[in-house]
Amino acid sequence: MFFLNEKGWDFAKMENYIPEYGQVSVAALMHTWNPTASDLCGFCTSLVVESIEHLFKRGDIAQCVWRYFSDAADISPLPYLKQNIRKWWSLDCNPRKKVVYQVVPIVILWFLWMRRNTILHGGTFSRGKLIWEVNDFIRKFMFLRFKVSCEGQDLI
Ligand SMILES: [Zn+2]
Repeated sequence: MFFLNEKGWDFAKMENYIPEYGQVSVAALMHTWNPTASDLCGFCTSLVVESIEHLFKRGDIAQCVWRYFSDAADISPLPYLKQNIRKWWSLDCNPRKKVVYQVVPIVILWFLWMRRNTILHGGTFSRGKLIWEVNDFIRKFMFLRFKVSCEGQDLI
């Protein structure tokens, strides 16, 4: 796998894939390219600029999803995206759980991005579907990595 090396997860490589300003085409960035395009998030109930932090950590859906998985893992969420992800990556727990906790943040980011783009292009993607998709991905990951079937179970 791309993020694995002979010692396990390659966090230096993974760190490069945490989205930062200028790397992901959120509305705030697209607004700098085309000032007639709105820089606002089109998915939240309040008018707020769609930044990396907003889309992946502080927006309504992002907060809800992070809270769901943080509560399930008994982790106190931290306010900033990178800070929060590093916390998940550095938890001191048994090796199997640690591998799963290191994957969860990346999967959450991926499905937040997928949800945003699906809705932007006219589709639907509920909060429940987002949580289901993250769980399903983690379930499949655990089966591939540990040969453990978690069908029908809460994962964290
Ligand atoms: Zn929003």
